[in-house]
Amino acid sequence: MNEERWDNLIKAINDCNQCPLGSQRTHPVIGEGSLDADIMFIGEAPGHNEDRQGIPFVGRAGKILDKLLAHINLKREDVFIANILKCRPPGNRNPQKNEVESCTPFLDAQIEIVQPKLLVPLGNFSYRYLLSKYNVSHDKISTDHGKVFKKQTLTETLYIFPMYHPAVATYNPNQLSVLIKDFEVLDSYLHQQVMNIQG
Ligand code: URA
Repeated sequence: MNEERWDNLIKAINDCNQCPLGSQRTHPVIGEGSLDADIMFIGEAPGHNEDRQGIPFVGRAGKILDKLLAHINLKREDVFIANILKCRPPGNRNPQKNEVESCTPFLDAQIEIVQPKLLVPLGNFSYRYLLSKYNVSHDKISTDHGKVFKKQTLTETLYIFPMYHPAVATYNPNQLSVLIKDFEVLDSYLHQQVMNIQG
């Protein structure tokens, strides 16, 4: 991990005003976890609580994510948790195209610095962004969640395992069982060492 590059990145995010969300935020939400993590979870954008605290997934969706992580014996400090957008969209509306375009270079840099072996997009925005970024052919999250995608580069193998966003379980409790099942599938891959990752 390149500490100087990480520090410069944090400064750039804190100073960022490239889109109008920058002037409306209380705090940017840079991410949380181990900078040596093998697994990176990537959500959509901060909500009200995240904007207040500057920490990802601390609201209702975050409580669900914490339970799902605990269900497969992962701790926040074992993984890295980031978002597509670093600043909160007003009223938690969907990220807009210009916001995604100006903000995702920060996520790209985070992935380059942390070098996770496994990316877990949480929700449709993250799913579409990451599978397109790595030129992995994909369909839609309703068919692709809970499946592993493999991207072979010259030097490494990157795995992508899309999941629904944990917030789905706050408005549709039936979706919690889908999320639990997908986490269990992920856990089985980690245990079989299919991905050569120590969870
Ligand atoms: N939803 C997200 O996608 N990210 C957060 O950090 C919180 C809620």
